Amino acid sequence: MTSDKKPQKKSALYYYVLTILIIMLINTVIVPTFFSPKVQEISYGSFLQMVDEGKVSKVQITDRKIAATEKGASEKEFFVTGRVDDPKLVERLMESGVEFSQVIPKENTPLENFFFNWVAPIFIFFLLGQLFFRFIGPRMGLGGGNAMSFGKSNAKIYVEAQTGKSFADVAGQDEAKEALMEMVDFLHNPSKYKEIGANMPKGALLVGPPGTGKTLLARAVAGEAKVPFFSISGSEFIEMFVGMGAARVRDLFKQAEEKAPCIVFIDEIDAIGKKRDSGKFGGGNDEREQTLNQLLAEMDGFDGSQGVVILAATNRPETLDKALLRPGRFDRRVPVELPDLQGREAILRVHAKDVKISDNVDYKSLARATSGASGAELANIINEAALRAVKMQRTVVEQADLEESIEVVIAGYQRKGAVISPEEKKVIAYHEIGHALVAAMQKDSAPVHKITIIPRTNGALGYTMQINDNDTVLMKKEELFNKIVTVTGGRSAEELVFGSITSGAANDIEQATKIARSMVTRLGMTEEFDMMATEVINNVYLGGDASLQCSDATAAKIDAKVLAIIKEAHAKARTILSENRDKLDELASFLLEKETITGEQFMEILHRQQTTDAVAAEIAEAEVSEDKGAEA
Ligand code: ADP
Ligand code: MG
Ligand code: ZN
Repeated sequence: MTSDKKPQKKSALYYYVLTILIIMLINTVIVPTFFSPKVQEISYGSFLQMVDEGKVSKVQITDRKIAATEKGASEKEFFVTGRVDDPKLVERLMESGVEFSQVIPKENTPLENFFFNWVAPIFIFFLLGQLFFRFIGPRMGLGGGNAMSFGKSNAKIYVEAQTGKSFADVAGQDEAKEALMEMVDFLHNPSKYKEIGANMPKGALLVGPPGTGKTLLARAVAGEAKVPFFSISGSEFIEMFVGMGAARVRDLFKQAEEKAPCIVFIDEIDAIGKKRDSGKFGGGNDEREQTLNQLLAEMDGFDGSQGVVILAATNRPETLDKALLRPGRFDRRVPVELPDLQGREAILRVHAKDVKISDNVDYKSLARATSGASGAELANIINEAALRAVKMQRTVVEQADLEESIEVVIAGYQRKGAVISPEEKKVIAYHEIGHALVAAMQKDSAPVHKITIIPRTNGALGYTMQINDNDTVLMKKEELFNKIVTVTGGRSAEELVFGSITSGAANDIEQATKIARSMVTRLGMTEEFDMMATEVINNVYLGGDASLQCSDATAAKIDAKVLAIIKEAHAKARTILSENRDKLDELASFLLEKETITGEQFMEILHRQQTTDAVAAEIAEAEVSEDKGAEA
């Protein structure tokens, strides 16, 4: 489970052993040369010779050794030699006038020894250690800047004194920011709330699809409140050893209470917070349940007025245990949704500040072309554009870089080398124009930003960049139906023009079915089922797989109804296309030739045709039927 963890820091034991080794080294090598008397061993013969030649000023005799000081040398320099049973030595010394005595050469006192051997080295080590941890270690990435991990249970709790993020870094998400503003205020000034007797919610749950800035928001709250930020990811609680998760939770809260006011952030809380004993998997996961229980206990246990705010993030709120969500725990839910048009523009602008970007970039049109993209994807789009600018050997990012990078992020890189036969290319062009034309005839406005038929690495053969001018919240039944008509337009064009069908519509088929199904099972848009819900969505933010909740007989009826809707839509698409066959041909041949058609070009061609009168249209229709005959 933890196979890809960073290498653990070396244990304290490692450092103790290292320290002791180095102290021993200093004691045996360095200290003697600096602090001990300088001693040179000589033979008894040379000693006698020195005495005879009058070179010796002083001799000290011990039980086993004789130490001699040379004339003019310092008191701390000795020649030593072993003591030989020599009765004539005294005589010789007297003769050459050497001062001599039977004493031990002066040695360091025990106190001095203790100081030089132990106190000094340990002091030096302390200094070195400080130097290392303060200045060198962080630069090498040990202990990492102002974030460090600690905890008795090796918990990967990251505490940052200052996250350095503010609400200004989070674009859009105004509702979420507003909800969190109150928490910031509480952290600034807990007493204000205490006085009036108001209890700040202990925890808030940030809920939304991946990449919408939940983690970013939590860090911004800490940054705004200027309080420490403890963060841990739910998956890190659940590790190898049973009982560790609970210990971590305890640690986390203990540390947080010591540092209050502060923010505790549990990212991906669904990893621990899943409903207990869901039945499906029998006994369930003991370790996870223990961890969750500990979390619940800690949340109840601590005093909210101290100024500890718990934030958690998840993209699967429906899986969370109800106990987590009740008042006194994560009772506040902050939705962090995919950005709307304005939000996307704001996010693009925030991230554009990080790169050198041309002044005449049209953020609005970029925002329009990125409907459905998350904040993380938008940040990625800016970065990809910067990379492309470098590749093109430019120093600023241009609009073209951004447009290309949108396609890269959404549809993959261009497969320049891909070989597609002219016939296939023609099919693809008609297919894409089929979608666009059906959409345009239903809405009477530019349905697309751009269509290209340059193959992409993700396998898409053509690519249509949709326009979404206004992100609407409510969809009318007609709009949903028209969407299905548009989705079936690609296949309809193929049928109409080539009389055969290809595998290119797999994605469309899936999408059409999904829309039609939700109309029947969840949106109450059919007479037959009125307002009965026959399906529930399990996973709102992660694709939303639905599960049926009805009898088999009803399920069969649902299938029949879904098929009927799709068939009706398909027929409508075919009618639209055959009524506008001339436009279909003209647009498709333009796309085939240029490989790309923009929304404006598309509308221009469409308009050109509309200005012609009914007679011209009739002639065109006659041509169409001829074409058809020739091709068949
Ligand atoms: P989540 O936790 O919701 O999955 P993150 O907070 O990790 O998403 O967001 C990932 C990245 O996407 C952020 O670091 C940021 O660069 C970018 N991002 C997402 N939402 C926004 C936003 N609203 N404003 C600015 N940047 C955003
Ligand atoms: Mg996150
Ligand atoms: Zn299609």
